Amino acid sequence: MGEISIPPSPVRRDVVANRQEVESWVRQHLSGLYLEEPEEAHGSSSFFGGQDIADKALETLDITGYASKRSRVAPEALRGATRLSPYIRHGLLTLPEVWQAVKGGSYEDLKSFRNELLWQDYSRHLYNFLGRNSQEPIRYELSQIDTAMEIVEVLAYDEDMECLRRCNEELRESGWLVNQTRMWMASHHSIREGQPFDIGEDEFFRHLLDGSRAANRLGWQWVAGTLTGRPYGFSRSQVTRQAPQWCNECALRSRCPIDTMPDSPEYVVRRESASLRIQEDLGPKAEIKDGPDADCVWLTAELLSLRQSALVQNPNLPAVFVFDRALLGQLRLSFKRLVFLAETLFAIGAERTLELHVGDPTEVLSGRRIAATWTPVPGWKKRQKNLNITELHPWPWLCVSKGVISLGSFSAWSKAAVFADGRRHNFR
Ligand SMILES: Cc1cc2nc3c(=O)[nH]c(=O)nc-3n(C[C@H](O)[C@H](O)[C@H](O)COP(=O)(O)OP(=O)(O)OC[C@H]3O[C@@H](n4cnc5c(N)ncnc54)[C@H](O)[C@@H]3O)c2cc1C
Repeated sequence: MGEISIPPSPVRRDVVANRQEVESWVRQHLSGLYLEEPEEAHGSSSFFGGQDIADKALETLDITGYASKRSRVAPEALRGATRLSPYIRHGLLTLPEVWQAVKGGSYEDLKSFRNELLWQDYSRHLYNFLGRNSQEPIRYELSQIDTAMEIVEVLAYDEDMECLRRCNEELRESGWLVNQTRMWMASHHSIREGQPFDIGEDEFFRHLLDGSRAANRLGWQWVAGTLTGRPYGFSRSQVTRQAPQWCNECALRSRCPIDTMPDSPEYVVRRESASLRIQEDLGPKAEIKDGPDADCVWLTAELLSLRQSALVQNPNLPAVFVFDRALLGQLRLSFKRLVFLAETLFAIGAERTLELHVGDPTEVLSGRRIAATWTPVPGWKKRQKNLNITELHPWPWLCVSKGVISLGSFSAWSKAAVFADGRRHNFR
């Protein structure tokens, strides 16, 4: 079967103090399944996984100044981004929890921050509907493709450019970037260099601790213009505003290769907005029990909160997590992503019985009666068809739709979406 079961160790409450142990665990058990050579592999320089750490980040969250500082890049001390994304991506913090917990700041700060939470939810709705088709241009495509152009298999940029060199370094060392530098890198790659966005998107996905097909694809498509028919252009002016010292320190400051905006490509409509007016399948609204009691709770990287109802309602059942060998072999995620995941899992193992496996989830879970949460990603939807799920819990959407809804644009969607209890979302 090629599947191994691993005792869930090192089980630690204090993952921060045990980074080295977690790293050696990942080296031992997930050998050959990550991107880097073992001697170059390291955990994130600035994030640790685990429910306690996610909760602390939320408790101490203060969004004062968020609206004006969200895009600030350097110096780091002036950044307004909250850095919650790795915890939100892995469902340690759900969007409704973050929406409720946010404090500090003016009405403008609150509105700006909650609007971003809506973007995250929108990306999940779009991915729920499009699934793997989201790798194709969503609404617009280039009217002409330069077939003679050489395709580079990495993020395209000149290493002498201090701005993009620093962004790349942060991506690789910490596994996180502020939204602004994600836009710079994505724009440089796909607009100025004219490279296909999916190559850059895959490279982000391998390194970002918050890397999700939902938000990452939406971000790349938004920048590349395939969502709106307008690209995001990147030039020196953004660096001068958001990271002025990087420009001053750049070897190319007197002959900046991005002094002016890149030419905008031309687009044609690929998919009419009307075809994105749909009746969404959002999974069950309440828990569904079907058959005998479950004997385990199946966890995936989409939802690792200790507060999820499948775990809370089954305190004595083991939680089961399967590192999908075939999938990881194909994705080749950066080691730091796997360390973050392992830290998060060990923190669960410190609270309750946890089984860890490396193998094929459907084989590992075959013959078991499973409690699980309905999950809006194609991999989960496909696998659950072959499993005996006797207890199904609802996904923690921030917003839901009533009847037919348009996913054609964020503003159309966010105007029509409501909270699960039917209330209209209000930024206050
Ligand atoms: C090219 C590109 C790729 C991206 N890839 C990802 C990705 O893989 N995963 C991911 O979660 N986000 C992605 N984003 C969105 C955004 O850049 C990150 O969510 C944000 O930078 C995370 O930092 P933060 O937690 O400090 O965000 P904050 O600014 O503090 O925002 C709070 C939360 O709102 C959500 N959010 C903020 N901005 C966006 C946005 N534009 N789209 C969707 N959600 C948002 C995130 O959950 C974030 O944690 C991408 C954006 C671009 C332009």
